[in-house]
Amino acid sequence: MRTLVLNAGYEPLAVVSFKRALVLVMNDKATVIEHITDNPVWGTDGAHDRPAVIILTRYVRVPGGRTVPVTRRGVLRRDGHRCAYCAKAASTIDHVLPRSRGGADSWENLVACCLKCNNLKSDRTPQEMGWDLRFLPGAPRGAQWTVRGTDRTDPAWEPYLELAA
Ligand SMILES: [Zn+2]
Repeated sequence: MRTLVLNAGYEPLAVVSFKRALVLVMNDKATVIEHITDNPVWGTDGAHDRPAVIILTRYVRVPGGRTVPVTRRGVLRRDGHRCAYCAKAASTIDHVLPRSRGGADSWENLVACCLKCNNLKSDRTPQEMGWDLRFLPGAPRGAQWTVRGTDRTDPAWEPYLELAA
């Protein structure tokens, strides 16, 4: 059981254990805005509803902005496991500008790719192949990407995550 923590401006900030969330609430650092009522926690002073979503009482500044590290899994997830060239099911990733020609390991230069297109393309560019990218690749945005732990979403969190996406 985990709790979504929102910044005072309602943007998703973190996912913590409900115990940690209760401590924040008891110290007046946060207020509960969504409860899970069917599974209370028993403390020395009786039953507490499990907090599903809490909001901080004071705004917390997040240092350094939110960058999502590039991973193979992340690229496949961003592109919906569909080939960026032919839209068929993709299990590999392709460097749009091949690595052998200076292409970077970046969100902008990596796309999901099916095995067939990957083999055909090899170390050529899409232009040389006469292929078009179905979309312009870039870093993913939204709380599902930038807040650790939100990929396994609680239904009670969804309205708050959508708000931020
Ligand atoms: Zn393909």
